Amino acid sequence: MPATILIVEDEADIAILLRYNFEAEGYAVVTTESGDEALEAIAEKLPDLILLDWMLPEISGIELCRRLRARTETARVPIIMLTARGEEEERVRGLTTGADDYIVKPFSVPELIARVQSLLRRANPNLVTEALKVGDLELDRTTHRVRRASRDIHLGPTEYRLLEYLMCNPGRVYSREQLLDGVWGNDVYVDERTVDVHIGRLRRAINRGKDPDPIRTVRGAGYAFDERFAQLA
Ligand code: CA
Repeated sequence: MPATILIVEDEADIAILLRYNFEAEGYAVVTTESGDEALEAIAEKLPDLILLDWMLPEISGIELCRRLRARTETARVPIIMLTARGEEEERVRGLTTGADDYIVKPFSVPELIARVQSLLRRANPNLVTEALKVGDLELDRTTHRVRRASRDIHLGPTEYRLLEYLMCNPGRVYSREQLLDGVWGNDVYVDERTVDVHIGRLRRAINRGKDPDPIRTVRGAGYAFDERFAQLA
């Protein structure tokens, strides 16, 4: 699934420009106009990166940044601050408040995209990698092909997204609800048992005979891509 970028910017022109360009690069984009809206959006879905305007109505960008850094779940989300030219001192403050980077308006879009990619790569290398490879299992995001050893594996669209989602964070256990949100999308109402059905299909497609199973069932919790799979396969 693509990385999600949350844009917090009250100037509509800039927000539209950013949305357009990041969507064209294949990112999922959420735009908000204020700190409060941003907090709501974050509560709904944790973004992979935040582009945060300095000058916002009500809660300022800097205050929002400070609050996000103080909360465990958002402490490590990469944040790039957008500042106006000449706010030298504020930029320094921005970085000490916990922003990972800042860019001065008017900015060059390709430069901003490059900075975003580099931060995302640092935070989670799998988000910007086109091919995921663990053990003998390979998933190519450009061609949507999946191979195990030298065998082509044919997956339905849901099984593909499920595998991609789990492979992005080996070892991390996802609840059925988190998988529904991440793979099916949070607007869709699907029974949690649907997850089990698709996990079953995914396993049947990727495992043959005595192949080690890369998917771990964690009783009472959910599913994970086995972080030890690379040693098993
Ligand atoms: Ca502004």
